[in-house]
Amino acid sequence: MPEEKHSPVGYDDTPMIPGQPWRVHDKNRPAPRVVTPGANAGDAPSDAVVLFDGTDLSKWQGRDGGDATWTVENGYAEVNPRTGNIQTKDEFGSVQLHIEFACPAEVRGSSQGRGNSGVFLIGEYEVQVLDGYDNPTYADGITGAIYGQYSPLVNPTRPPGERQAYDIIFEAPEYDGDTLKKPAYLTIILNGVVLHNRKEAMGPTGHKNVSSYDKPHGPTGPLMLQDHGDPVRYRNIWVRALTDYDES
Ligand code: MG
Repeated sequence: MPEEKHSPVGYDDTPMIPGQPWRVHDKNRPAPRVVTPGANAGDAPSDAVVLFDGTDLSKWQGRDGGDATWTVENGYAEVNPRTGNIQTKDEFGSVQLHIEFACPAEVRGSSQGRGNSGVFLIGEYEVQVLDGYDNPTYADGITGAIYGQYSPLVNPTRPPGERQAYDIIFEAPEYDGDTLKKPAYLTIILNGVVLHNRKEAMGPTGHKNVSSYDKPHGPTGPLMLQDHGDPVRYRNIWVRALTDYDES
């Protein structure tokens, strides 16, 4: 019986909510789907797609379609410098992403040459990964920057070698042919601190150029991690699709 999915209590004589097919406290409004959360903060909930659990990179590949050749040991995947970026075999659109990283404990280099990597949503939008702890660099390239577009609100990075956690909500852009219907939005939290609150991206990120939506791209793409020549480590990577995002 359909009623079993609905709240057993509610009203059928209250005003309609503007813009929605429901009354205030509507007794027929479906209850939210049940998700079992992880046991601890950062653990994957029951409906997550786990992309890396510390054991292997079987869900990843090189950009040329070959095997992902980064080093997996002790529960992390480490950039194998100059072997190239890796990306998921599956594609995603709008997602909630959790990903943990650690920059090398042994500090080498400075500015963009120190602990540089990156998390690319749908392969196009880089959330910067950098050793941003007491490491001066341009602000739209520091840890948590939407690279080349927006500096994070604050810098809550941990010291080199320590584990750090991103929680990212990414809304993929939408095109109608060559016309942009809706830009991409990013909400980025690092180590529990908000860096960007539903920030509108200017387009796919780039280096030393102004981003734009002039080159339409698909609504989905792989999650890509950058090889910038530094042995950055990743662990505990999972995503949840946000297919219902606009239906509230
Ligand atoms: Mg980078």
